[in-house]
Amino acid sequence: MNKNRFASWGFDLDRPLVVSGPCSVETEEQVMTTALQLKDYDVDILRGGIWKPRTRPNSFEGNGEKGLPWLKAAGEAIGRPIAVEVANPEHVEACLKIGVDYLWIGARTSVNPFAVQQIADSLAGVNIPVMIKNPINPDLKLWLGAVERIEGSGVEKIAVIHRGFSHFGGSMYRNQPIWPIPMDFRQERPDIPIICDPSHIAGKRTLLFDVAQRALDLGFDGLMIETHMNPDEAWSDAKQQITPERFHQMTIDFRQRNKVVDDEMVDELRKALFQLDQILLEMVSERMEVVREIGQIKKEKNIAIYQPQHLATAMREKLEEADQLGLSPEVITNLFTAIHNESIRQQSEVFYGKKFADTV
Ligand code: PEP
Ligand code: MN
Repeated sequence: MNKNRFASWGFDLDRPLVVSGPCSVETEEQVMTTALQLKDYDVDILRGGIWKPRTRPNSFEGNGEKGLPWLKAAGEAIGRPIAVEVANPEHVEACLKIGVDYLWIGARTSVNPFAVQQIADSLAGVNIPVMIKNPINPDLKLWLGAVERIEGSGVEKIAVIHRGFSHFGGSMYRNQPIWPIPMDFRQERPDIPIICDPSHIAGKRTLLFDVAQRALDLGFDGLMIETHMNPDEAWSDAKQQITPERFHQMTIDFRQRNKVVDDEMVDELRKALFQLDQILLEMVSERMEVVREIGQIKKEKNIAIYQPQHLATAMREKLEEADQLGLSPEVITNLFTAIHNESIRQQSEVFYGKKFADTV
């Protein structure tokens, strides 16, 4: 691994720095039990969400200030410093008052220069270490700008966190990782440690390991992984949180994993997969031929390309079939949305020619 840049923060590690703990501090007992379960594992900083920026209202938005002493006590019980997300000066003040060790700025906040500047102003003369998540949109300059604003207040220890980017249409990820962006960040600011947050990139447990391993292969300095004593019952981000035990196994596997698969059975099965993928590709291409023919008729008869009614019926049918086949409705919705988007693009090409199709 590349030299770990957290050495300048006082961590003497021969492995990546690890921040772990629950997405949200839910109850005193939940954060304490989770922390105690993490105690003997490779965790350097205990995290816990106190104010939760949820995408839609009427979900659990955190305990607010009342949760801070619970997290603080959990950190003390296992002898680890604690980290909390802050989104405004009031959050900063509450954290400083109770003695939070590290702050982080979330993706929905780092996107907003006004908000970041307000946080920076509230940190003047404080010099607490701050971790800054990438903004939700893939804008390297905005990310760099957030770092510069916090630096401007005199904070000396700054790290950044790649947690993926919002995207339109289907994706296997909750937030699309765009690896060249953190890599470019590293080119611009080789002095700043970079952490990967595979939990918010993956959005589900099954993908977590691969995303984390990828980050380590790319020389990230640390990982932020959400853990919970009972992930299925978590009040936020239930699908992506893992038990401390599973987290521990994961950290062991990081070290033991062979980078190259050398297994005859896997090779054989992969050949079969390759052929199936080929068939899928040909079927999509065949579908697009029919789509273009329909596009031609729509154009001649002056019919709109987008037919929401037809789409809704088709999607409903697919979901019923998917259910019978034991396939995830989410994945099938994403798959057919992607195919439908490509169909719209193909018909736009029939209508307007290649030049405009992508912008329609
Ligand atoms: C979190 O870490 O729980 C969180 C809200 O993350 P993000 O800002 O990456 O969405
Ligand atoms: Mn979360």
